[in-house]
Amino acid sequence: MLQKANVTRIRAWLEKINTFNSTPGAGTTRVLFTKEELASRAYIKEEMNKLGLEVSEDAIGNLFGVLRGKNRKFAPVWTGSHIDTVLNAGMFDGMAGIVSGMEALRLIKESGIVFKRDLAVVVYTSEEPTRFGLSCLGSRAMAGELTLEDTRSIRDEEGNSLYEVLGTLGYDYKEFAAVKREKGDVYAAVELHIEQNLHLDKEGIPIGIVKGICAPTIYEVTINGCQSHAGGTSMGDRHDAFTAASELTLVLEKLARESKGTYVTGTVGKVNVLPNAVNVIPGEVHMSIDIRSIDVESKKMVLNKLFTEKERIESERGVIISLDLENDDIPLKCDENIIRILKNNCENLGITYMDLISGPYHDSLFVGRFAKTAMLFVPSKNGISHSKEEWTDFEDIALGTDVLAHTLLELANKDN
Ligand SMILES: [Zn+2]
Repeated sequence: MLQKANVTRIRAWLEKINTFNSTPGAGTTRVLFTKEELASRAYIKEEMNKLGLEVSEDAIGNLFGVLRGKNRKFAPVWTGSHIDTVLNAGMFDGMAGIVSGMEALRLIKESGIVFKRDLAVVVYTSEEPTRFGLSCLGSRAMAGELTLEDTRSIRDEEGNSLYEVLGTLGYDYKEFAAVKREKGDVYAAVELHIEQNLHLDKEGIPIGIVKGICAPTIYEVTINGCQSHAGGTSMGDRHDAFTAASELTLVLEKLARESKGTYVTGTVGKVNVLPNAVNVIPGEVHMSIDIRSIDVESKKMVLNKLFTEKERIESERGVIISLDLENDDIPLKCDENIIRILKNNCENLGITYMDLISGPYHDSLFVGRFAKTAMLFVPSKNGISHSKEEWTDFEDIALGTDVLAHTLLELANKDN
């Protein structure tokens, strides 16, 4: 029998981690490998040691606290999240998943229940892109999508490469190859995270079971028209790059809204109009297109239609539209078996839940490349995150921890 998660302990851990903050009074800022981030790592290691976990770090700084199972020949079960933040963020994004993992392992250890597989809380290095402009550094490297060679070209604003920073901190390049995990190295992984959306808060439901994690396909778009005088060029003679950009944006919105497939979003978030003058017809536009879904096919459907529409706009408006693929991450469908276990545990514990899709992505997206993976969400007040207004009730994190602890224990005793 597992005890219930201890709300006071969860709160104390979260509040202590929140003191490692470079912007006190203006939200929480804890950027990768800064003084504050390193201090929070040291604190978490200390707390993991107190819990009787075996603490280790890999060559990119992913931090592990392992509770040994009785049979080392079985692959481990992981839970975890991140401790770094965006600028002026809150105290829950990422940290909720670390403290719930530590509390879940404490509950399992203190129950005295025997289990087979090792259980680990993992602090993934830099989920947020704050310092190096690339998110999920640790989990991306685990998935083999960030190599030691890649770390040489990833630089922060001061021009330091991730490679140099890792070296300065004493991480061993020779061990970098061991960061990458193969399929089968990890049996299963479950991440608890705050929702960062309104659904749970609005419905008054404490737990969201995530069906899938959206991944972005991003294009850099250039539209070339013909720059000319706003007064001197008749409406019929124009090749206006900005009106073409506007039409393409509205088409994207319509296609995403009307998509018959699974949840799709389409966003133009960045636009640069040239020459950007009041009396000049824009000759050139640079903009971004970001399309997300949990389903590769749904993304493809929207993209195919968008390309057809692009050609129509080009011929009708006499412009040239180039779409350069920047990024094409594969979305993740969460593991059906773990989802079933999560739901059973909610029902057994008398905790209400709802199905959700994760629009933002998380370390679990990359962990899912090599392990069966699932996520559970706890409510974000008013759906706000990445802000000092971010809030999740400690009681809700405790309920999520109860579901997590039962689920980890069950997974740790599975044969295959
Ligand atoms: Zn996060």
